[in-house]
Parts: sequence; structure tokens; C-alpha cells
Amino acid sequence: MTEVAEQFTEEQSGEVARISHWIDGRRVEGTSGRSGPVYNPATGEQSGEVDFATPEEVDAAVQAAKRAFESWRAVSLSRRTELFFRIRELFHSHGDDLARLLTLEHGKVLSDAKGEIARGLEVIEFCCGIPELLKGSYSEQASTGIDVYSIRQPHGVVAGITPFNFPAMVPMWMWAPAIACGNTFVLKPSEKDPSASMLTAELLKEAGLPDGVFNVVHGDKVAVDAVLEHPEIAAVSFVGSTPIARYVYETGTKAGKRVQALGGAKNHMIVLPDADIEMAADAAVGAGYGSAGERCMAVSMLVAVGHAADDLVGAIQERLPKVKVGNGLEPDSEMGPLVTREHRDKVASYIEKGSEEGAKVLTDGRETAPDGNGFFLGVTLLDEVTPEMDVYKDEIFGPVLGITRVDTYEEAVRLVNENPYGNGVAIFTRDGGVARQFQFEVNAGMVGVNVPIPVPVAYYSFGGWKNSLFGDLHVYGPEGIQFYTQGKVVTSRWPDPATSKVDLGFPQTR
Ligand code: NAD
Repeated sequence: MTEVAEQFTEEQSGEVARISHWIDGRRVEGTSGRSGPVYNPATGEQSGEVDFATPEEVDAAVQAAKRAFESWRAVSLSRRTELFFRIRELFHSHGDDLARLLTLEHGKVLSDAKGEIARGLEVIEFCCGIPELLKGSYSEQASTGIDVYSIRQPHGVVAGITPFNFPAMVPMWMWAPAIACGNTFVLKPSEKDPSASMLTAELLKEAGLPDGVFNVVHGDKVAVDAVLEHPEIAAVSFVGSTPIARYVYETGTKAGKRVQALGGAKNHMIVLPDADIEMAADAAVGAGYGSAGERCMAVSMLVAVGHAADDLVGAIQERLPKVKVGNGLEPDSEMGPLVTREHRDKVASYIEKGSEEGAKVLTDGRETAPDGNGFFLGVTLLDEVTPEMDVYKDEIFGPVLGITRVDTYEEAVRLVNENPYGNGVAIFTRDGGVARQFQFEVNAGMVGVNVPIPVPVAYYSFGGWKNSLFGDLHVYGPEGIQFYTQGKVVTSRWPDPATSKVDLGFPQTR
């Protein structure tokens, strides 16, 4: 076990660990005097205190990345491939340490934390094929004696700003392709669960990544603004809530950077009357309450069409008492706590609000939360939710599943298409024709057919539409490679004295 993993798995010690930056291949203690608490959400105890970076500290990370860039970009593709295979092996062998850190700081249950690492590893595996991914094209004899070819080159220093809900995987979506493409990287992870990034830094060093290629600066808005304004950061990837995504996109692009900013979501799952109701109920419970609903691809609204509604509600209600809520380190826990006390209280306030707005509270998570100081909330099911209600409109980001009843497929699709978010969506039906029509006309970036959480595999790209993404390119997969590189086209002729002559005209095809 590495030093970082050891430090954070001694959860009984009661000591508050200091979490510092990682610059130029080593830990660097912050000097700002500003910091933030990190909690174990299952116990409510503070486990860490994370340094918040000043603009000067962000600059130190950028300068380290800049120094590392020229030699890193020159490392051959075969050496980069070799390194990525080593990175893959190390993340595999330390997967349990990393998963434990996620459970200790985020709260998600251990099996879910392992799932997060597995999905992140897929992106690392995709990057093992970097020589294939960076192949250009070549046109021989585009003009007489002239060949034209395209290449893709890294930008230089690029940055990633990430949310609390996937503290290992979302950074992997960014640093893996960015570095594989030859860039150097500065990560500003969520200040709520920052330790996974430190273990990531140690593992990358152990794998042999040169110092300065991967750096971590912790912090809040001050650090984010320093990233967005830094003249030597060429591109920024962001994942987080919609208001901050919009801000990051607008500020970053104004400063001349390439930006992809993924925002929040309100994901619908439509259940048609011909659906397999048992399968749909299993899917709804898993996708609604898994990771305590703190997934950007979580299902938060069920749209039950026609007579599917009563059957579906009954089947879900049968399942809810069996969902085991508890400390994520306990092997039988299926749902852990929320990330902070404030977030738990905010999510709980939506149950009250929903009831005031006229929704029927079929199951109230406030009544079933485990005792103790942990940030727990049980599962909540709201029926008869309508689109004007705040519980429908807002991204609650907790274990609160709403049901809207509609009469027709058309009404269901209209609800999805009129929603300002467009991240994931799912339809449950046995009718292939309807499913095909649905994927054709629905306005969302990721569509599931009898699949509730359609997170694309690593060789496709991840991203939503509308207020769920600001920017042109999705993350990871082919679009990730495109994001982290810029195209160059070379037009070349070798000297041939027989055809050489002075020509002041505009170059023409000959
Ligand atoms: P958040 O927007 O609060 O924070 C994301 C990042 O922005 C963090 O690093 C944080 O430090 C920084 N930040 C926060 N406030 C800021 C401010 N005022 N100015 C500048 N930077 C600021 O998001 P979160 O609560 O950490 O994560 C949950 C959100 O992320 C949800 O809305 C969820 O849907 C979204 N999310 C989206 C995706 C996706 O792929 N679309 C994936 C995961 C999470």
C-alpha cells in the first residue's frame, strides 16, 4: 500500500491528515493559509484538511508542466504506449486502495467505488492504443510532385477541473488522453474528496511518468479562476454543475482557451406499457439510488406511460425496504451517505418541498436514515410529480426518485425534449420500432434502450446536449483525442531541379 493509501485507510486513528498539492513530481505544502475540511461522510468526522492554492501556486504547477512539455511531447509513441501499459497495471494492482479512499471521502459503497475505478481503467486501456489514435492521413501526388499529410499535435499545458462525485474516474477521463496525446496536465480536483488525486499522482510517478507531466493543485474558486486566466494553459476540461460549467466555458473561451465543460443533468427513464416491469423496476432502483443518486447519469425522473405506472410503482415499492443503507465499507451496504452534511440537508429539503408542491411521498428517506453522525438519508420515492414542480425542474443529486405519469409516448418524449438538460435518457420497452424512433427523435447525448445508465464505453465519447455540455467536443474516446490535439496539415515537395522554376502566382493544382 502506498503512503497516501495508508494515511487514509487508518480511519480509526482520528487524526486529521493534511492534503497538499503535487507539483513537479512531489508533494508541495500550500502556503496560502487557506484550506478546507474533508470528511468521512459515514461517520461525520473530519479526516483531512486540504490546502487551497493561490494563483502563485497554480502558476508553479503550470511552470512545472511547461518545463516538462518539450521533452514529454518528444517521447515516442511506442514509449508512451509502454508507459500506459505500466499505468494500467499499477491502477489495477492498487484498485482496492483507490476504491477505499473513494469510500472514505466520498461515501459511496466499496463495490461502487471499484466500479468507478474499472470504468476509469477502460479509458486508460483505450489510451494504450495511442499510436493508432494519433494516426493522420496522407495524400500522395495531391499535385504533381506534391504530397499532403495531416498530423495531430498536443497543445502544451492543459488543465482539468473535476467534481466530487467521481474523484478518480472523471480525472482519468481527462489526464489519460491528455497525457497520451503529449500534453502536460494540471488537475484541480474537488476539494470535498481530494485524496484520490494524490494517490493517482503517486501511481503515475511510480509508473515512470516524468516529473511535471501530471500536477495537482487543490482549492476553490481562487484556484479555478487562476487556471482559467492563466495565459499558458491552452485547454481546460471541466465536469461539474451547470452554473459553474457555463462560467468555466465563458471565462475560459474568453481567455482564448479551448474548453469542454460538462454540466448537470435531470435524466429521465421512460417506461412504456409493454416494458418488462420487473426489469424496469430493478433498473430504476439501481439507477435512481446507486451512489445515493450522486451520479450525473443517475435516473431522477421516471416517466410512466399509461397503465405501466401502477405496476411500476408497486414493483419499486416492493424493492425499496430491501435497499441496505450504511457505511460503504460494510460489505452488505448497498447505498452510502451523501458527501457532506449540507448536501444531505439540501436533498432532504426537497422531500418537504415536493410534498408542499403536491407530489405524493410514497417513501420518505428521512424516516429510514441510519442513526449516528454520518450524512445519511434513506431512499425517497415521490409519485405524481409534474413538470412545474421544483422537484421536477431541479437537479436534486440525491436518493430521491420522482415519478411522472403521462398517457402517451409522445407526451413522454416531449417532456424529455423540453427539459433544459440533455445528458442521459433511457426507454424501457419491448418494441424495437418504438425504441428506434426514440433514439432518432430524443434530444439527449446518451441514450439507453432497456439500459438505465448508458455511460458510453471508452472507445465512444461521453457528453450531453443542451445545458449538460458547453463546448463542441465530448470527453474521452475519439472526441477526447480530438480535444487534446490540434490538427496540422503539411504540404510537401522534395526538390526536383527538372521542374523547379520561379512562379509568383497563387499556388494551383498542377
Ligand atoms: P461543482 O460545480 O460544485 O464543482 C465542480 C468543480 O468546480 C469543483 O472542482 C469545484 O471546486 C469547482 N467550483 C465550485 N464552485 C465554483 C465556483 N463558484 N467557481 C469556480 N469553480 C467552482 O460540482 P460538484 O458538486 O462537485 O459535482 C456535482 C455536479 O457535477 C452535478 O451537477 C453533476 O450532475 C455534475 N456532473 C456532471 C457530469 C457530466 O458528465 N455531465 C459528471 C459528473 C458530475
